[in-house]
Amino acid sequence: MTGATRVLVLNSGSSSVKYQLLDMRDEARLAVGLVERIGERTARLTHTPADGRRRERELPVPDHGAALRLAAEELAADGRGLDSPELAVVGHRVVHGGQSFTEPTLVDDAVLAEIERLVPLAPLHNPANLAGIRTARALNPDVPQVAVFDTAFHTTMPEHAARYAIDVATADRHRIRRYGFHGTSHAYVSRRAAALLGRDPSEVNVIVLHLGNGASASAVAGGRCVDTSMGLTPLEGLVMGTRSGDLDPAVVFHLARVAGMPVDEIDALLNKRSGLLGLCGDNDMREIARRMAAGDPAARLAFDVYAYRLRKYLGAYVAVLGRVDAVAFTAGVGENSTEVRAAAVAGLSGLGIEIDERLNSAAAKGPRLISPEYARVAVAVVPTDEELEIATQAFALARPR
Ligand code: ADP
Repeated sequence: MTGATRVLVLNSGSSSVKYQLLDMRDEARLAVGLVERIGERTARLTHTPADGRRRERELPVPDHGAALRLAAEELAADGRGLDSPELAVVGHRVVHGGQSFTEPTLVDDAVLAEIERLVPLAPLHNPANLAGIRTARALNPDVPQVAVFDTAFHTTMPEHAARYAIDVATADRHRIRRYGFHGTSHAYVSRRAAALLGRDPSEVNVIVLHLGNGASASAVAGGRCVDTSMGLTPLEGLVMGTRSGDLDPAVVFHLARVAGMPVDEIDALLNKRSGLLGLCGDNDMREIARRMAAGDPAARLAFDVYAYRLRKYLGAYVAVLGRVDAVAFTAGVGENSTEVRAAAVAGLSGLGIEIDERLNSAAAKGPRLISPEYARVAVAVVPTDEELEIATQAFALARPR
């Protein structure tokens, strides 16, 4: 591989910026950093170069532009600034691409305007993503910027999966449909699961369970997403750390009419104070497992509600796909919680889905199978790597052919 081979990946959240500098020759991490608590009295920057010597700073960082300038300073201090001729491209995670963006896209003014037009669909995230792109562009106008959308992988969903059964004219006017999120992870993990089976992604059907703080499931047929559990927003679907996932929409009317709650308060309740946290006061699965082992009934209930929803989605996606070759667990909970994996597939041996207890509880890292050899469906643990996937996609687009 010749020419510039480094990719800077930027993930601008509502109050944080995560960044990684990768060298695509060997996919090595040259630096990993995080600016958090942007906009608060003091923000905090953590920067770890390849030698592992972590640097930390606490200082006021008013906005995402300032955060990125700070990250650029840290990279420059390592001799790897944004002006380095080694930098091939900056890859940006952009949360909402609506129906406009079906694949990674080289950023120009028209692309920025379209991401801006989608702000009402992701009011917390798209503005932060835009600020990241604009600042990176200003810092070095010669380096291409590529937007990689969280929704893009799901744009292959058929209309019958993407539509809500509501008045079509109203839905279209307000762009209300099921978009799905975590797409970069679902794409990466479904491909890796196929590789683990020694098969081409186009030949296999995979159910991916991305279980982090946010959580979503997807049904992937021959490498294309045909359904996913998140919808217009990341609130739909599985029980999550602090989000309720699926519920009767009339719960919202009830809270408004009977409990007199303003809509913003209902939004905060369902997104920030529900899910595992709402059920038992904790949203960290490690703590819930510890409390459960100590006989705590609230933790037990939270775990059971979480696992039951997961099992329902697994069953539903077996029906969606018809034939399933693999179920892949990923993200913080999926990669680490033996209890959740065991409970998610409990009782599904009739569908060919089961796990080997010894393999499930083995202390292992890396992609691995945890199903018994005779099982019809391979069950796998596949660590996700969204930054690498963004870097790979951005690099593929920016490289001179
Ligand atoms: P995010 O959605 O914030 O990217 P992650 O994928 O990092 O989330 O997952 C975070 C969650 O993973 C934590 O809330 C925690 O519950 C869970 N987790 C991390 N390590 C373990 C572990 N060893 N056992 C069980 N759960 C874990």
